[in-house]
Amino acid sequence: MSVLNPNDVSFCDLAMPGVQGLLPYQPGKPVSELERELGIRDIVKLASNENPLGPSPTVLEVVQQALPDISRYPDGNGFGLKKALSNRLQVEPTWITLGNGSNDVLDMVARVFLGPGREAVFSAHAFAVYPIATAAVGATARVAVACGGDSAQPYGHDLNAMRALVNERTSVVFVANPNNPTGTWLPGNELEAFLQSLPPTVMVVLDEAYGEYISEPDYPQSVEWLDRFPNLIITRTFSKAYGLAGLRIGYAISHPEVCDLLNRVRHPFNVNSLALVAAEAALQDQDYLSRSRQLNDQGMVQLTAAFQSLGLDYIPSVGNFICVEVGRDGRQVFDALLRLGVIVRPVDGYQLPNFLRVSIGTQAENQVFIDALGRVLADV
Ligand SMILES: *Cc1c(COP(=O)(O)O)cnc(C)c1O
Repeated sequence: MSVLNPNDVSFCDLAMPGVQGLLPYQPGKPVSELERELGIRDIVKLASNENPLGPSPTVLEVVQQALPDISRYPDGNGFGLKKALSNRLQVEPTWITLGNGSNDVLDMVARVFLGPGREAVFSAHAFAVYPIATAAVGATARVAVACGGDSAQPYGHDLNAMRALVNERTSVVFVANPNNPTGTWLPGNELEAFLQSLPPTVMVVLDEAYGEYISEPDYPQSVEWLDRFPNLIITRTFSKAYGLAGLRIGYAISHPEVCDLLNRVRHPFNVNSLALVAAEAALQDQDYLSRSRQLNDQGMVQLTAAFQSLGLDYIPSVGNFICVEVGRDGRQVFDALLRLGVIVRPVDGYQLPNFLRVSIGTQAENQVFIDALGRVLADV
């Protein structure tokens, strides 16, 4: 056997081909990092679609109470939370899979249904985790052209274009409703026709991470579809409207046989004990949820009005974030905003180079962002 010098080993060459080509997910810049870099305080972060209200007080209480038990493993089956979700959603607990954030569930779906020789279909400008989960297991991504910039849902999913990419190798279709970062959404009748048009052997992931924010009457009650479309996997999260992003908890609702498969690749104890009690309490705190929605609706009006008075176009959004067109390289504007202590999200990685995505914050946070954006755009 030839002896290779350890310094001559290229570990990238040793990685699986799908991993070699991957770029890691780019998270929003943490406040603490910008504080270190600039040596300033009072930073406004509107970069990760977090809930600006902070956690619900009842959640904080149950987490405090659960702290002495963290030397124990959590309930690996999440009995209490699944029961609470089961009551809320009117589905049996055997239809629910808990995840370490809904990203964890997306990853489980990929590990169960995707691999070399198989294809996943999703839209251009769709959530970044779909291409990562697909490539990580060696499957091929088929990216559908999105709706045009001047259509009713600018840069949103074009279901016909997605349908056209489905073939005998397609195992999973990812649909984000609404999508991040575009904030575009699909009404129930269009999605239902799409499901109807697909072979029942193609798994459809319907990502409803922002579903709780939406009040459009045509937004689908997708859980009701599960009986008719057993290939449907609905994913939801406690990270956004429920304000638990830091605890990492989300879930899938699907046919029990699909649940059983997801469970086979699920890491043992993937959801921690604090997240389990927090999510159960969050689910009961409907007052917090309605305050979150209300704050979001008001913030959306505040931001869109400001964009209009600055003469900026934006993509109409139903989420807790919005993409604004800054008319130049978004990354430059992002950097200039950082120097003013405001963190937003560049979306060049989503093929939207002239846009920035901003999360809806409190009224005061939104105003800091609006003032900073006005200054930056006047300067450049
Ligand atoms: C934020 C987000 C998620 C959820 O992430 P978690 O892992 O649950 O925190 C899922 N899908 C989309 C489209 C998102 O924007």
